[in-house]
Amino acid sequence: MKQKAAFCFCCRYFSQSTSEQQFKFAGYKNWQHAVEENKGFAKIAASAGHVQAALIWAERQHRITNEQSVSTLVHEKQLERNRYYIRSIAEVVQFLCINELPCVVVLTIVY
Ligand SMILES: [Zn+2]
Repeated sequence: MKQKAAFCFCCRYFSQSTSEQQFKFAGYKNWQHAVEENKGFAKIAASAGHVQAALIWAERQHRITNEQSVSTLVHEKQLERNRYYIRSIAEVVQFLCINELPCVVVLTIVY
C-alpha cells in the first residue's frame, strides 16, 4: 500500500464499527485539518469505535502475552486436526475451482 494517506491500525483490524471507514479503508488524506482540535486524528481518537477497537487490540495483546489466546487454549492435537481440516477443505475448493466443477457446501457445526 503506497498512498499519502493515514490509516488507523486498530480501527482497520479490530473495529466492528462502520463509522471509521476513512481510517480503515480509504485512508485519511485531508492533511490541512489532520491535527486540528476536534478534527482529523483527534476526532478519530475520541470516537467510540476507535476506543472500542483499541480495547479489543489491547485485550488481544494481553491474551497473547499471558498465553491465553484461543490457539494456546486449544489442545495441540486438536489444533493440528483443525488445521488439517481447514487445509483439506481449501484443497477441495481449489480443485473444484480449477476444474470449474459445481459445488454445494453443507456445513454442520458440532459443539
Ligand atoms: Zn482508530
